[in-house]
Amino acid sequence: MKLPVRDMPVPGESFPGYLLRLAHFNGRFRSGEILKLAGLRDNHSNRQPSLKGLEAVCEKLAPLLLVSKEQLAAHFTEQLSEPWLYDEKRVIRDIQLRQPRVCPECFSESDEPIFKQDWQLLPVTHCSKHNAPLVERCPGCQKPLEWHYSIFEGCKHCGLEWSQLHPRMNQGLPQWQLAYISNLKSPECMKVFLRELATNIVRTARPNDVIHEDISRFPESCRDLQSLISDAFDCGPGDKEYGPKGFVSPRRLKHSDTINYHCGYKEIARVLNIPEGEVAYLASKGLVNIIHETPVLKDTLFDIRSSHQLLENIPKAECPPEGYVNFTPSSTLLDRYATSYGRVLASALDSSVTVYRSCDDLSMVFIEEESLNRTLRTELMKISGGSVTDMEARKILAISRKEMAIMIMNRQILRCSHSIHDLTGDSILEHFKL
Ligand SMILES: [Zn+2]
Ligand SMILES: [Zn+2]
Repeated sequence: MKLPVRDMPVPGESFPGYLLRLAHFNGRFRSGEILKLAGLRDNHSNRQPSLKGLEAVCEKLAPLLLVSKEQLAAHFTEQLSEPWLYDEKRVIRDIQLRQPRVCPECFSESDEPIFKQDWQLLPVTHCSKHNAPLVERCPGCQKPLEWHYSIFEGCKHCGLEWSQLHPRMNQGLPQWQLAYISNLKSPECMKVFLRELATNIVRTARPNDVIHEDISRFPESCRDLQSLISDAFDCGPGDKEYGPKGFVSPRRLKHSDTINYHCGYKEIARVLNIPEGEVAYLASKGLVNIIHETPVLKDTLFDIRSSHQLLENIPKAECPPEGYVNFTPSSTLLDRYATSYGRVLASALDSSVTVYRSCDDLSMVFIEEESLNRTLRTELMKISGGSVTDMEARKILAISRKEMAIMIMNRQILRCSHSIHDLTGDSILEHFKL
């Protein structure tokens, strides 16, 4: 099998653009048809391969063009080798766009127009030859452009041809694109520049969200990159909300009615000003709302409003009322009772013990002394029938390593039968005194 028309790529031509041109020259509508002829699946990774996937695609495609896979791949290796195209640590990991963008001037001037590789890149919104914005939607009917052979001439939907448009004024390149060009000299500077730009783009696109997640690439459905990037580059307030599809994870899309209030345990901990891990105990008693529950705290979605609601429900007091004591995450009582701040707070609030907060968060509360002691004792009793580690045992009993060794030797406290490291909770409770 070989294609009747076997043009090779032109320097600077993008892979998806070349594939579409090949389809067009051979009387096909879409590039997927060429992939299928080559025995490849019509999917994103074959239409727009990464450097890693390039060889496999070229291996199948090259016989159709009567060239070797090396000859074909050589045209794209350099453009796909830039180390900053993909960055695991960036908010938008892959900066190659999937949607087609064209320069109407470039396309109408040339008899054989090509898609340039840099038109596929996130910071490139303008044609560097004509200093005019690349077009993502048809200027006539506003419909998004598609990878369809008609794009070389104009719009598939309304029939507008690129050659009918008046040439646009030379507008100069925007600041972000100039910054991109100047960073081409240094991959390290480029990485820093792109990381910041990607973070700003995602934040600007979703101005009302509490959290912003990393995404693999810029959403294909978003065709307003130029205005978005312009706001993001100026760090201007995003007044338009984009997405959410493509900008937030699929698991969050399932809860779209509360999407602006989604947050993680870290944001809850920040509002309440308590150690991050303690959020789990408040959640277990329903004191903060979970939107999407998972066994892993870091993947659990919370509702940020519930942390504000919790604070509102706890009265504030300037100083401890009569009979009340200070209680903070660094209270020494926590180790003595084998518990933590969040556990005590959650169980006090859950059992309607009156708790006051001393400030705008929960970094210090006032609890009635007797109720606190009762709650702490209940917490400690949880080790009954169970086991504790050496270190926990020393803290509960407030004894030294040596003192504990003696107690173990005298069989005053007992090792668990199943582990030589743990001690039985009951033998520890027997010796507990404040
Ligand atoms: Zn142009
Ligand atoms: Zn149109």
